[in-house]
Amino acid sequence: MTTSLVPFLDLKVDKVVSVPPATTDAEKQRAQLISQGLKGLPSMGIHTVRDALYYFPRRYIDQSENSDLAALEVDTEVTVLAEVLTLTQRRSRNGDKILTNVVLTDDNGATLDATFFARNTWSARYLESMLKPGTRALFSGKVGRYQGRRQLAGPDYELLDVGTEYAEQSLAHADDLVAIYRGKGKATSQAIRKVIRELLSQLPDLSDFEPLDQQMRTKYRLLPLGQALRQIHQPRERKEYRAARRRFRFEEALVLQTELARRRADAQTYRAEAWPLRDDGILAAFDERLPFELTDSQRKVGDELAAEIATETPMLRLVQGDVGAGKTVVAMRAMLQVVDGGGQAALLAPTEVLAAQHLRSVRALMGDLAAGGTLMAEANATKVTLLTGALGAKERKQALLDAASGQAGIVIGTHALLSDQVQFANLGLVVVDEQHRFGVEQRDVLRNRGELTPHTMVMTATPIPRTVAMTVFGDLAVSTLKQTPARRHPRATHVVPEGKEQWMARTWARLADEVKAGHRGFVVCNRISDTSIEEDTQTTSDEDAEPRILHTVEDTVARLSTLPALAGVRLAPLHGRMTPADKDATMAAFSAGEIDVVVSTTVIEVGVDVPEATIMVVLDADRFGISQLHQLRGRVGRGADPGICLLVSPVAPETLAGQRLAALEASEDGFALAETDLKLRHEGDVLGGAQSGFASSLRLLRVIDDADLIEQARSEAQHIVADDPQLAQHRVLAAAIAEMLAGREEFIERS
Ligand code: ADP
Ligand code: MG
Repeated sequence: MTTSLVPFLDLKVDKVVSVPPATTDAEKQRAQLISQGLKGLPSMGIHTVRDALYYFPRRYIDQSENSDLAALEVDTEVTVLAEVLTLTQRRSRNGDKILTNVVLTDDNGATLDATFFARNTWSARYLESMLKPGTRALFSGKVGRYQGRRQLAGPDYELLDVGTEYAEQSLAHADDLVAIYRGKGKATSQAIRKVIRELLSQLPDLSDFEPLDQQMRTKYRLLPLGQALRQIHQPRERKEYRAARRRFRFEEALVLQTELARRRADAQTYRAEAWPLRDDGILAAFDERLPFELTDSQRKVGDELAAEIATETPMLRLVQGDVGAGKTVVAMRAMLQVVDGGGQAALLAPTEVLAAQHLRSVRALMGDLAAGGTLMAEANATKVTLLTGALGAKERKQALLDAASGQAGIVIGTHALLSDQVQFANLGLVVVDEQHRFGVEQRDVLRNRGELTPHTMVMTATPIPRTVAMTVFGDLAVSTLKQTPARRHPRATHVVPEGKEQWMARTWARLADEVKAGHRGFVVCNRISDTSIEEDTQTTSDEDAEPRILHTVEDTVARLSTLPALAGVRLAPLHGRMTPADKDATMAAFSAGEIDVVVSTTVIEVGVDVPEATIMVVLDADRFGISQLHQLRGRVGRGADPGICLLVSPVAPETLAGQRLAALEASEDGFALAETDLKLRHEGDVLGGAQSGFASSLRLLRVIDDADLIEQARSEAQHIVADDPQLAQHRVLAAAIAEMLAGREEFIERS
């Protein structure tokens, strides 16, 4: 594949645009902006003309009406169109600056202050001449508060009025829309717009360089490239940029789907080892000793997996099922099928805590069958080995040896298992628990390992919309565990209003009661400590979430330790900043009953299985998403005793967050809840940690909202690749794919 098909688009921006000579103030201003744009763009990853033209506006402002100033909130970044009401200037106290205070107004008479700081009289005079009362301009900055009034301090501004000497020449019509770009440093929105305007003014005919052929454009009513570029950057009406956006979304979808179709076609050429079912091996012995009946769903999905593993086509399957649906058993049966043929299976967990947890539950379910390599081993037994970064040097060496020699039929660990240092004698199946961090790249790692590709199965408790499975995860076949094994006890969920002291007292009393009854509990917080960054958790970003101080693990441990109600309760923290060894030791002590209550972040979110845990108290519960809370509460009431989950929150029941909590109180159906959740959440939240996948290359395409478009593009892509696997007749599309892959690498390096 070659990228240099479109000379103009591949030129460096500063080869096409140069800073024009300037004599008048207006010319100087323009020259200044272009120069800023040229300097600033490279730091935004924008180097070529294509990069710049595909840097699309964030939004558009309608020149015909002023923005609603009353609606602006403090602490938000805004771009507003407003009219200058008054301008006053004075020296700063210490005399080194000239302050210009401008009062802005909108069509309703609301006002907003803007203050500018000029270092010399020349700048101050210039400002005065630009922002005369009556002038309309765009102002961008962060809304602050000064002496009780909302204020923009040192905003960027840009004059728009038609007819004035400084106005943008191209904004010929008063009803034109102004494109607003996400700027950075010197490259302000205005500077970017100036540079892009220069580029568009030199745009050659692009019809030979169009990734979407005429037939496809007609079929889906899509604009041609050149026109779409003009309309997205310089729309005269809203419908112009809407049509342009649609075209570029389709283009993104097509480029992505063509690459995925190519990989699928490629995957057909990969071979896996076939592992036929045996009825006299370790799997049969395992089934024999299972303490329960498999549900119909487990059986059905198990059969699907068994059939695929028995063929030479590498399996690539996502198994989704609610928390507690019994995915682990399904995975273990698939792994044992491979072990029966003399192969190995790797089980990958998202964290070390969970890997250690899996080791315990796998060993518990297998009993003697996991005693391979020891003297008392049964005939069919295999060895189950843990391999994580937390191991000491000696243990690690042994684990590596177990994997490389084939002694270990099952190796459990984190994604580090996929590193080059870990060799397997004959890896037949990889099981990934919780898909979040398992995108297309990770699969490539597996594929590039040996002559034979292992079968792959990914498990998730969060239902994945089809288009997400198609884009973010390449293309996974999906199986669903629709049933959950009948619960011996219902699990109760209650919302606890934090403001009510009596309720809180009862919450802690209840925690103490459970511990006295020999049970264990969790207290979940949003943060580790006050200084911990958001990354520690995956809190939701609700607009209606008032800023407030959140409970932290550290504070909560300290506070609960002094509560008389909890005297004698053994508490321990558990969070992502602890060393893997400490985390593991804490979990082990908790499992063993040496710790009664762990106070943790969401590190316990997935998979932790301690049957004696019966109570969970979630603090600031409104800051977690529905699916996340559902996952969390799935950790309690798994054993012989009923579970209870207390969602503590100060939010009012009628708020959006309050309604989410109420939904959890009312329903135990994780899939139904997750679907509700998807509708309430933002696209970015849905993708979450999946950013390592192709999703990071998407600019406009929305994997949920644009489902139809993605399906259409996928079917076109399939045809293209079927007819022309090398894309020899689709060179522009091939170039666009190369561009996408390169851009994604840059993204991964930067992040
Ligand atoms: P998840 O789907 O959340 O990973 P697990 O596989 O951890 O669920 O299973 C949850 C619990 O249910 C485990 O203790 C497991 O042993 C048990 N379990 C699994 N399948 C069944 C079944 N068919 N009947 C009864 N209990 C089951
Ligand atoms: Mg699980």
